[in-house]
Amino acid sequence: MNVGILGGTFDPVHLGHLSIASSAMDQAALEKVLFIPAGQPRLKRSEPSASVDHRQEMVRLATLDIPNYQVCDIEAHRPGPTYSVDTLVELSDKLGPSADLFFILGLDVLGQLDRWKEPERVLELCQLLVLNRPGEQDFDWTGFYGRIPEAKDRVQVVIAPLVDVSATDLRNRASAGEPLEGQVPDAVAEYIRQQGLYLTAGEGRTAN
Ligand code: ATP
Repeated sequence: MNVGILGGTFDPVHLGHLSIASSAMDQAALEKVLFIPAGQPRLKRSEPSASVDHRQEMVRLATLDIPNYQVCDIEAHRPGPTYSVDTLVELSDKLGPSADLFFILGLDVLGQLDRWKEPERVLELCQLLVLNRPGEQDFDWTGFYGRIPEAKDRVQVVIAPLVDVSATDLRNRASAGEPLEGQVPDAVAEYIRQQGLYLTAGEGRTAN
């Protein structure tokens, strides 16, 4: 069984996330994709704006009607910063040896793999399905494989349309009172409005 893992801050979840999950699913014949909101993302430049409970609820709303997408709460309330390697160890114990894990991520995040905790172990535990992202066209693959040679056979690039949506931009739009429809699922836009999320001025693009 091929299982996709899409970790993120989801502050808020948006159509870019749903799109990369769908493209990864097709390319790697994934049976399901687990959306895993991070409690305290370690490599983001600033704290998440919305609480983990709000972020998780938005992911639940966004994935409600898609049978093969599931919200997974194993990172949400883990004390301290969130490390993907801990999540992967926990998931591979839980799912057993018949599950092949595929971590889905954007090129912006791949470029920081050498700053993750135990990147070599991460690459033993899962393969990476990488999606291009606007602004990342000049990714230095030679430099990347030079820094992490173990990644050579463990990274697949997913060919998919670029989706120009980011959570940073959405937080800024929400704080300016602009509508979010068309960039997040309608139920998520409605939730953000009802709960009064992101009303204060947004921060700059986070580093992940
Ligand atoms: P922020 O703008 O706050 O940094 P984000 O939009 O990058 O947030 P995250 O929740 O941090 O959203 O992203 C989770 C994962 O989804 C990361 O691997 C990121 O690279 C990927 N991702 C998010 N948006 C896109 C997109 N539009 N295209 C490709 N990958 C994306």
